[in-house]
Parts: sequence; structure tokens; C-alpha cells
Amino acid sequence: TTLVYNQELMHKTILVGDSGVGKTSLLVQFDQGKFISGSFSATVGIGFTNKVVTVDNMKVKLQIWDTAGQERFRSVTHAYYRDAQALLLLYDITRKSSFDNIRAWLTEIYEYAQKDVVIMLLGNKSDMAAERVITHEEGEKLAKEYGVPFMETSAKTGVNVELAFHAIARELKHRN
Ligand code: GDP
Ligand code: MG
Repeated sequence: TTLVYNQELMHKTILVGDSGVGKTSLLVQFDQGKFISGSFSATVGIGFTNKVVTVDNMKVKLQIWDTAGQERFRSVTHAYYRDAQALLLLYDITRKSSFDNIRAWLTEIYEYAQKDVVIMLLGNKSDMAAERVITHEEGEKLAKEYGVPFMETSAKTGVNVELAFHAIARELKHRN
């Protein structure tokens, strides 16, 4: 589904992944270029944020949806997936369970999302080198298995945050 906004195409993009992986922080970093640590992001649901990304001198409009407290499997509504054209799937490189759950998230995504949804796997919190339990290679291997692009990001330092959303926008542009 494509929403019409200001006569231009708006691409619904959703953030998915276990609670605490950094979905809200990633969106705040991309939108405002800052990192808000602590309980703020855990309790505040953003809803959606509109962002314009320029790809090859063309504007790609993203309507990025964040989930708040709906992260448990099956509680994310099917409609949320159904309307999405792009999806950023996050795990936390310092929390193994969030990585192990990626398979379950992908199963759910393939069940409910559009067949041509643009997916990108993100290993977030790359700044936390000392606490890392999932290697870059493990993330890459899982992404390869599912045929999706992969990147490690830090919502704290901003590393690869712009790049991730630009990659999504680029893929959306090439598909339309
Ligand atoms: P959400 O539940 O997926 O929306 O995750 P939040 O954005 O609320 O983040 C959960 C916790 O992880 C918060 O305390 C954030 O400050 C922290 N956090 C999120 N992203 C990063 C990151 O890239 N690096 C570090 N060090 N902490 C992060
Ligand atoms: Mg959140």
C-alpha cells in the first residue's frame, strides 16, 4: 500500500525486533541526530516520523513507524506488517536472545508482510564492544541465509544509522 502525501509517494517503513534492541533510539538518532539514553525511549511511543531521503537527486519519502510495547510475538498487528513497504529488523549485539529471536521475527514477517517488502537486518549497539556476544560474522551469516542485507549500527554514536535508512530508500526507489 502506498499512502499519498503531498502528492508524492510515501513509503511505510517499520521497525521490528525485541523490546530493548534500540528501535526507538535508532529512529530518534536518524530523525534528530541525538541519543537519548535511559527510560525515555522505553516508555514513549513515537508513532511515526516522516523523513525525506535523497537518492540520486530524487526524494524518497519514508514514513517510519516505531513500535512501543507491541514487540512480543503475535501482538504486533497483522495490519502493521501488511501495509509496510520496508522493514528494519533489529537485534542487540550484546543480547543473544534478541539475535536468536530473529528467525521467529522473520517467520512472522514472511507470513504477514507483502512478498516484496524491503528487509534489512541490523545488529544494533555496535558501540558496546566489551559486551558484544554476537559477532559481525554471525549477523552476516544469518542475513545471507535469508537473502537480506545486513549492517551493524549504533543508535548511540550514530554509526551506520543514516546509511541503513539510505540503503532502504535506495532499494525502494529502484523498485518503483
Ligand atoms: P526499543 O525497545 O527497541 O525501542 O529500544 P530503546 O530504543 O528503548 O533502547 C533500549 C535501551 O538501549 C535504552 O536504554 C537505550 O538507551 C539503549 N540503546 C539503544 N540503542 C543503543 C546503542 O546503539 N548503543 C547503546 N550503548 N545503547 C543503546
Ligand atoms: Mg521503543
